[in-house]
Amino acid sequence: MIYYENLFDANSKFFREFREKFEQVINSGWFILGNEVKNFENEFASYHNVKNCIGVASGLDALTLSLSASSIPENSEVIVPSNTYIATILSILHAKLKPVLVEPDIRTYNINPAKIEEKISASTKAIMVVHLYGKSCDMDPIAELCKKYNLILIEDCAQSHGAKYKGKLTGTFGDFGAFSFYPTKNLGALGDAGAVITNNDIYSDRLRKLRNYGSSKKYYNELIGYNSRLDEIQAALLSIKLKYLDQINTHKRKLAKIYSDNLKDDFIKPAIDDNYFDVYHIYNIRHPKRDKLKEYLLKHEIMTEIHYPVPPHKQKALEGILSGEYPIAEEIHNTTLSLPCSFGHSYDDIYRVVEVINKF
Ligand SMILES: *Cc1c(COP(=O)(O)O)cnc(C)c1O
Repeated sequence: MIYYENLFDANSKFFREFREKFEQVINSGWFILGNEVKNFENEFASYHNVKNCIGVASGLDALTLSLSASSIPENSEVIVPSNTYIATILSILHAKLKPVLVEPDIRTYNINPAKIEEKISASTKAIMVVHLYGKSCDMDPIAELCKKYNLILIEDCAQSHGAKYKGKLTGTFGDFGAFSFYPTKNLGALGDAGAVITNNDIYSDRLRKLRNYGSSKKYYNELIGYNSRLDEIQAALLSIKLKYLDQINTHKRKLAKIYSDNLKDDFIKPAIDDNYFDVYHIYNIRHPKRDKLKEYLLKHEIMTEIHYPVPPHKQKALEGILSGEYPIAEEIHNTTLSLPCSFGHSYDDIYRVVEVINKF
């Protein structure tokens, strides 16, 4: 069986270092907001060449706390892609703001910059972009619009650790870069974890308070905060893995290249463009008989996933909240299939998948 993702295989290379570090953290007797969190924050900030990194409990919290820290007035509108994981939309709702959906570009699956301006109103205060599947959004026109309309820019980088646009890392274009370290992400912890990066010291200071009950001095609370702290143990393990992030991305890019070079053109493959350094959090193809293809692959012992089967505007939880028609998002959701493309997979695994798919 070729698994879609096997987190044992994806992490086993790091187990020796993990065990050593684990022992060290246990022996330190310090488990929340200590040196390990500080170290990881410094390392992650310096990987991105930004001033501040704030560790939080999850990717969803990284997004929600970024919106809170930006002090956008309640009920303001936030532009967001119609084709994303539900967490992006939920963060806007949790921050008491209104999501306004913009359709993706069918080639890249990311928000279509040409369709943003028509959705900007007097109430629009921010754009939240998502670098889906590990490909950066087309950032130049988006940054331009943010400048023109004085909008806060938040980047959902949950799938794009290390991805670049014109040589610049995702997460460094906006006011906030929000990351998830959920175990399957390109930089994954052994549990839930997240972080925000920002060059703005005021936002950084607010985020530090917001994640810890709105407090910077114990038992003195300045903001209506959350409990959303990054654990020492996760920070310690993330510091180890961050050293290998580029290696993980290189491996995933090699697997993706095997697919892209060898899969028949019957399958719509991810767009490859100059100026984009994609990290393939997900390697997806599209096919009109997606469900049959998935079934066929499973019969041949190849597991796949669908990211995602139901778009946000069709989710029961968001009924009556997200209005409008989003045919491009639906087309993607109806035809997309994610193929095995993990740090735990070998080139042979991928050649095997290619061989089987090409006979469909
Ligand atoms: C994973 C993911 C999130 C949420 O991250 P969690 O750590 O699970 O809260 C947000 N946005 C996108 C695009 C994601 O893929």
